Amino acid sequence: MKIFCVANQKGGVGKTTTTINLAAGLAAVGQRVLLVDLDPQGNATMGSGIDKRTLELSVYDVLLASATVAECRASTPWAEQGKTAGYDVLGANRELAGAEIELVNLDQRELRLRHALQAVAQDYDFILIDCPPSLSLLTLNGLCAAHGVLVPMQCEYFALEGLSDLVNSIKQVHANLNRDLKIIGLLRVMYDPRITLQQQVSEQLKAHFGDKVFNTIIPRNVRLAEAPSYGKPGLVFDPSAKGSQAFLGFAQELVERAPTM
Ligand code: ADP
Ligand code: MG
Repeated sequence: MKIFCVANQKGGVGKTTTTINLAAGLAAVGQRVLLVDLDPQGNATMGSGIDKRTLELSVYDVLLASATVAECRASTPWAEQGKTAGYDVLGANRELAGAEIELVNLDQRELRLRHALQAVAQDYDFILIDCPPSLSLLTLNGLCAAHGVLVPMQCEYFALEGLSDLVNSIKQVHANLNRDLKIIGLLRVMYDPRITLQQQVSEQLKAHFGDKVFNTIIPRNVRLAEAPSYGKPGLVFDPSAKGSQAFLGFAQELVERAPTM
């Protein structure tokens, strides 16, 4: 069982899209998956077909230890209809924004998600955590729970700058809180091969990070952007779309690589 955090301190880089579509891709190739939404915006929850506004129990209750993961998780609606690519979701909503403050005075505040997930570890092959765009106490809980970090990034000039901040944060967490933690890989997302700058940055990434850059590249694809408004991942909304197929390929790459991670 592997726990991966999808993180990048920048907003709008494709973290949530990656988490949702990788969860569906892994499920489609037979893996048992739990998606954990750690962002109070609840986009990964909504994009998985679970209404954050009517969520009675969420990751907030898990972090405050008022409920267990088993009590709070839900299945994606298409899984309940017997369709493929279904997974479990530990959802989030606005309530989670308050957890930041409520956690401050609690014991082992960075390790609460890690401890809670131990109880369901046998139920899954992969647990994917969607992080908010900051190095908050919520993200720290994600990083402390994970074996590795997946970093989605757009191939543009400033992407490289933001990356050094993230690498430093991961080093600090590794040194102080979670000796297991490492960067599993960088995923190039929203890629447009017609843009020369993107090709150049993509090459720079490969030259600089080598094996840490996944072979799979996720193209810019409007179907991936449309799918969340239907509460579905690309693979469920439009399985043949280029973006959906790219995430299926990424899931396969990850499953192949997982034993060596
Ligand atoms: P984050 O979680 O990092 O803030 P999102 O996953 O929400 O980023 O993505 C930001 C925006 O970009 C969203 O509107 C999303 O639909 C869109 N998007 C993400 N990946 C793609 C893609 N491969 N092709 C087209 N649009 C994308
Ligand atoms: Mg997001």
